[in-house]
Amino acid sequence: MDLTFSDAETGFRDELRDWFAGNDPGPEPRTADAHQAWRRDFQRRLYDGGWAAPHWPVEYGGRGATLTQSAIFFEELGRARAPLPANVLGLLLGGPTLMVWGTDEQKDRHLGPILSADEIWCQGFSEPDAGSDLAALKTRAVRDGDGWVVTGQKVWTSGAQYSKWCMLVARTDPAEARHKGLTYFLMDMEQDAVQIRPLRQITGESEFNELFIEEARIADDQVVGGAGNGWRVAMTTLMNERAGLAFFLQVRLRNLLDDLIAEAAARGRLADDLVAERLGDLHVRTELLRLTAYRGLTAIEKYGQPGPEGSLTKWMWSDANQRLAQLAADILGPDALVTGSPWAYELLRARGNSIEGGTTEILKNIVAERVLGLPRLR
Ligand SMILES: Cc1cc2nc3c(=O)[nH]c(=O)nc-3n(C[C@H](O)[C@H](O)[C@H](O)COP(=O)(O)OP(=O)(O)OC[C@H]3O[C@@H](n4cnc5c(N)ncnc54)[C@H](O)[C@@H]3O)c2cc1C
Repeated sequence: MDLTFSDAETGFRDELRDWFAGNDPGPEPRTADAHQAWRRDFQRRLYDGGWAAPHWPVEYGGRGATLTQSAIFFEELGRARAPLPANVLGLLLGGPTLMVWGTDEQKDRHLGPILSADEIWCQGFSEPDAGSDLAALKTRAVRDGDGWVVTGQKVWTSGAQYSKWCMLVARTDPAEARHKGLTYFLMDMEQDAVQIRPLRQITGESEFNELFIEEARIADDQVVGGAGNGWRVAMTTLMNERAGLAFFLQVRLRNLLDDLIAEAAARGRLADDLVAERLGDLHVRTELLRLTAYRGLTAIEKYGQPGPEGSLTKWMWSDANQRLAQLAADILGPDALVTGSPWAYELLRARGNSIEGGTTEILKNIVAERVLGLPRLR
C-alpha cells in the first residue's frame, strides 16, 4: 500500500494538529476518579471542536472521516499525549453498533449523549464463567409485559461506576443452542437492581467492577438488533473493539519508548550494549506495529469491515508494551518500583494488556486459523 498522504489527508492532519496545539490536555492525573474526570473534560473539548468522533458519519455528528483520516486522528491524539476520550467504549463500540443494528429511535436517543460524554457507556459481556468463551454466558433476561427482567452477574466491567448505559448480552432462550437465544440490551445502570462493586487491581486503582444484577428492568425499546440476535450484534461490537485502537496504541508505545530512551540516556545507560540492543529491538517492534496497523487499513478497505488482522496488532502491542515496561524496570532498578511513579504504574498495568480485549492465546488462535489458514485444533 502507498503510505503517502493525499492533500486532503495532509490538510486533515494539519487542522487537527492546530487544534491539539491550542488544546493541551495537561498532565495525566494518577488517581482513577481524577483520571476519568480529565478524560471526560477532554472529550467535551473534542466535542466542542467537532473532533469527538471524526470516524462517525456527518449525519450522526461525526466528520465522515475516511479510514486513513480516522487512523490519522488516533495517531495525532497519541502524539499530543492526549487521553482516550472518557466514553471510548461508546464512541468506538456502542455508537458504531447502533449505526448497524439500532432503530432510528435508538440512534436519536443515544448517539448525541455518547458524543458529548453526557452519558458514559460500559460493556457487560464477561461473566465469572464466560470470558473468552462468551457464548457460555448465563445472565438471564425474561420477558415481562412490555419489557424484560434481567438477573445475573457480570465481571471486569470497565468504567461501570461512571456509566449510564451498559451494552449487556443476556440469555433470553435457554432452550436454544449456545450462540442462539442471546439478546443484546442497553441496560440503564441507574437502578437499584444493578449493584456495582469495584475490583481492586495490582496498580491499586479500580478500573473495572463486578456487576450484580437482581431483576433489573429493561424496556423493549432498548433491545438492539431484535430478540435472539444478540450473538451477531455482539460480534459487531467486538470487531470494532480491536480495529479502532491500533493507531492510538502504537503511538502511545512510541511515546513510552522515547521516554525510556531519554531516561536511559539521562542515567548513562545507552552505552550498555544489552540495554541498547533491547531498546533497538523495541524500536523495531514499534515500527512493525505501526506498519501492520496501516496494513489492517487495507483489509478494511477491501472487505468493508475490520478483519481478523486486528487480533495481530492487539497481540503485538501487548507483547511489546510488556517488554517495554520490563526493560524500564531493569534500567531504573528500584526507582521503577517507587509507589506513584509512572514507570511503576506502567509495569503493573501492562500485566493486564494480554488479557483485556481478548487474551493473547485467543488472539493467536484467531491469527493461526483465520489469517494464516492453519488447521483448526477441533
Ligand atoms: C483491564 C481489563 C479490562 C476489561 N474490561 C472489560 C469490560 O469492560 N467488559 C467486559 O465484558 N470484559 C472486560 N474484561 C474481561 C476480558 O475481556 C476477559 O478477561 C477476557 O476475555 C478473558 O476472559 P476470562 O478472564 O474469563 O479468562 P478465560 O476465558 O477463563 O481464560 C483463562 C485462560 O485460559 C486461556 N484460554 C481460554 N480459552 C482458550 C482457548 N480456546 N485456547 C487457548 N487458551 C484459552 C486464556 O487465554 C487465559 O489464559 C477486561 C479485562 C481486563 C484485564
